[in-house]
Amino acid sequence: MADKICNFCGKSERKVQSMFSAGSNNICDECVCYCYEMLKGPSEESLKKARSGKKDKKSINLLKPAEIKKVLDEYVIGQDQAKISLAVSVYNHYKRILSQDDGEDVELQKSNVLLLGPTGVGKTYLAQTLAKILDVPFAIADATTITEAGYVGDDVENVLQRLLMASNFDVEAAERGIIYIDEIDKIARKSENTSITRDVSGEGVQQSLLKIIEGTVSNVPPQGGRKHPNQECLHVNTKNILFICGGAFDGLEKHIVNRTQSSALGFGAQVMSKKEKTENIFRQVIPQDLVKFGIVPELVGRLPIITTLDEMDEDSLVRILTEPKNALMKQYEKLFRYDKIALEVEPEALNEIAKRAIEQKTGARGLRSILEKIFMQTMFDAPSDSSVKKVIVTADCVCNGTQPKLLNAKNVEIKNQKKA
Ligand code: ADP
Repeated sequence: MADKICNFCGKSERKVQSMFSAGSNNICDECVCYCYEMLKGPSEESLKKARSGKKDKKSINLLKPAEIKKVLDEYVIGQDQAKISLAVSVYNHYKRILSQDDGEDVELQKSNVLLLGPTGVGKTYLAQTLAKILDVPFAIADATTITEAGYVGDDVENVLQRLLMASNFDVEAAERGIIYIDEIDKIARKSENTSITRDVSGEGVQQSLLKIIEGTVSNVPPQGGRKHPNQECLHVNTKNILFICGGAFDGLEKHIVNRTQSSALGFGAQVMSKKEKTENIFRQVIPQDLVKFGIVPELVGRLPIITTLDEMDEDSLVRILTEPKNALMKQYEKLFRYDKIALEVEPEALNEIAKRAIEQKTGARGLRSILEKIFMQTMFDAPSDSSVKKVIVTADCVCNGTQPKLLNAKNVEIKNQKKA
């Protein structure tokens, strides 16, 4: 069955937590929250503060790069290179903000980050976790839903509006926040030769993004939606907002190989898997390759830190299921514990779940839906059956859709006939 698409933002159900449908119309959870916040609007108090221009001297929770990485390690599995690059650039970014009024001649330049890597490997999650660690407002925007000024769609101002919402309309806090722009590769120009096959829309969106990434004072309508001539706007300076952009950049490897004449794709490298080849090649990326890919040079210039994230293998997916602070298995354990039921997932089952996610090619993103399917019937039945004290998930549950085993207080299996 085809994926459901949100009628508002265009995201597919694979990319969101929940999709609500009525007939053939769909809306995703993110748009529901967005609409709710829009209807609610800013509080009178925050608007008053914003209009008065009073600066709230809320300091940034500035941790050292090694401390930032250590906290990231608690949530995000692997991706060490990306964690180090992000920790350093975020640390330098906030040092830059804090040193702005120190009267010295040397002005530190902003270090926005570009994350390269396939879907579901933790690009968004890294940016989100960083914002949480630093306790700064955070907003996510999908580059494919942003349109050039004047066209129907999301204006770049709406991206800033989301950041304002995250800061509860505290303009000063928003001005030091982090914006993650997903799928930046999808707005690439289709050809480097602009005079022949110029993809006007892609380049126009890049130009709009460039403006806010470079630093501009943008007029943002607090209620969202289109700007209205008589509407009172909040002025948001984007100079100190950190932009983290992410994308899969399928096809970028061609440009890198052409430039380096690398044999990585040729005869000399048969021992490398396709995944290793792409990862090794991506690590050699330079700004010029991104320009060849179709990102305008000015935008590439504003993303000086480029880092690559690795594709998820079976081991990393199993670790993602079990190790992070809020690992999915820990979440299910908690859900069952609430009904005084213990949960055991056999190691082979974890490996099978990881294999399924790899087949789906959605990285760690697919894990949740695989688990929901395995647990749904049990989560429906077990709470009403007080004899159930333990749930065991075996590899058979993942591979053949058999129901998890239910045990009573004497560790004797309670027979269960339903199929997942
Ligand atoms: P993308 O790279 O497409 O932006 P996301 O960051 O949105 O992927 O990942 C989707 C979900 O998968 C995250 O919310 C997180 O729960 C999980 N996830 C992805 N990568 C990792 C990782 N390296 N460590 C822990 N969880 C991860």
